[in-house]
Amino acid sequence: MEPRVAAIGDVSKLSPELQRAFDPAADFEPPPPPGENDWLTAYPEIGQTYDAFVGSDPNKPDATRKILYLLPIGELAVDGAPPLEPLVAVVHAFYGLEVKMLPAVSLKEIGATTRINDHTGKRQALAPDILRWMSWQVPADGYGVVGITMEDLYPDPEWNFVFGQASLTERVGVQSFARYDPAFFGEARPAGWQALVLRRATWTMVHEIGHMFGLQHCIHYRCILAGSNNQAESDRAPLHACPVCAHKLWHSLRFDPAAREEALAAALGAAGLLDEAGWSQRRARWIRTGRR
Ligand SMILES: [Zn+2]
Ligand SMILES: [Zn+2]
Repeated sequence: MEPRVAAIGDVSKLSPELQRAFDPAADFEPPPPPGENDWLTAYPEIGQTYDAFVGSDPNKPDATRKILYLLPIGELAVDGAPPLEPLVAVVHAFYGLEVKMLPAVSLKEIGATTRINDHTGKRQALAPDILRWMSWQVPADGYGVVGITMEDLYPDPEWNFVFGQASLTERVGVQSFARYDPAFFGEARPAGWQALVLRRATWTMVHEIGHMFGLQHCIHYRCILAGSNNQAESDRAPLHACPVCAHKLWHSLRFDPAAREEALAAALGAAGLLDEAGWSQRRARWIRTGRR
């Protein structure tokens, strides 16, 4: 068996619908070889199989901890920020958990270290400081909390910036919307830039929340859980999980796979992400009926 197929794990005892949901045939491709600036060139990874994921005893939602919270950090109602309603709807459809907003906090309240970035001349906040503060504030019914901000972030003094960062165990993640808008770099906004900003926000949020479910980066197929080293790499990546990562999520979330794809098709369509909506619609039909 090909290693990427073996990574999906044993599906032989699952229902026909679930077997189709985790069948790699037709709708999934191996990842392209990484380019010189891409994630796997910079950070070679061995990947995480379904069995390794289950063996890591990941956090999963339960009767007590079942809400995904978003925590606005600083002002989000600003030019260039993505609309939150469609973003929340896609995250809700992807993970099947209720998504709620927490009252906003300021960077000052958090007390995060900041610096001025050499390349952009703009302020950045140190993401691990934010994550540490957030880890003390997870509500009792919170599966996890995602900080969202228009502040630019950096993960470590050695690094230039980071789009987002999440803990696999502490139930917290943080994501910056700052760099999605071409105007951040002083570039002209192309036609349809708002849809681009929303797609970028969606990609990173779904990716980071995946880490909060204990999923490590995916090397098996083209997948939203694959690492990304730059915006172009994220823009090329799909918004869906591959069969390995979908099986991991099902282990923790026990969703109905066809109903999940239908909910995703509706949310992605409402967000204007029509290619991805069409993909989920086709998947839903195939999972339900076994016909393409
Ligand atoms: Zn990641
Ligand atoms: Zn994957």
